[in-house]
Amino acid sequence: MKCFYHSDTDAVANCSTNCGKSLCQECASCFTPILCRECFQNVCITTRQQAKSDRVKAFIVLAWNAFFLIAGIITIIEEHMKNPDVPILTILFLFWGISGLPWVLMKGILSDNSIESQVDRAISRNTEPGAYVIGGLFGFFIKLFLGFAIGAIASPILLMYNIYSFMQKSKLIKQMDANLEALTQAQ
Ligand SMILES: [Zn+2]
Ligand SMILES: [Zn+2]
Repeated sequence: MKCFYHSDTDAVANCSTNCGKSLCQECASCFTPILCRECFQNVCITTRQQAKSDRVKAFIVLAWNAFFLIAGIITIIEEHMKNPDVPILTILFLFWGISGLPWVLMKGILSDNSIESQVDRAISRNTEPGAYVIGGLFGFFIKLFLGFAIGAIASPILLMYNIYSFMQKSKLIKQMDANLEALTQAQ
């Protein structure tokens, strides 16, 4: 068996996807895991697309998060100047709760192992038909409550996490661009 790209060199490995191309020592050591150029290109394109849509999501959550975080602080300062007895913690809890809400809601929708969906499943498993709707509603309110409570406490940390996640996605997109660029130049 000869290498797909070098017809005079013996193949030592195969592309790790099911495309089945044989690769020589040099070609097999290009990428980890072992991939042919076409499959590596496909992986880069898919990863880039995924990262782009993840980055949009991260940005929306980030903007929401930052807006209510700052709005809460501004509201407290304004209200405190008008009336020094204003309930600072209540205002903070409300605003920061809203600030952290989409993070928990999105995590709840995206991951199947969230507490909410576990509760959801546990309830719908042991009850009659139609109970799933109730379980779903119940799960939704638990989700809302958790989102609010966790959000209120963790809002500043969530903001940092969202900024970090946004930057990671941007880095990944750049990396994939560089990979694709290098591939075109190699051809
Ligand atoms: Zn080769
Ligand atoms: Zn391949």
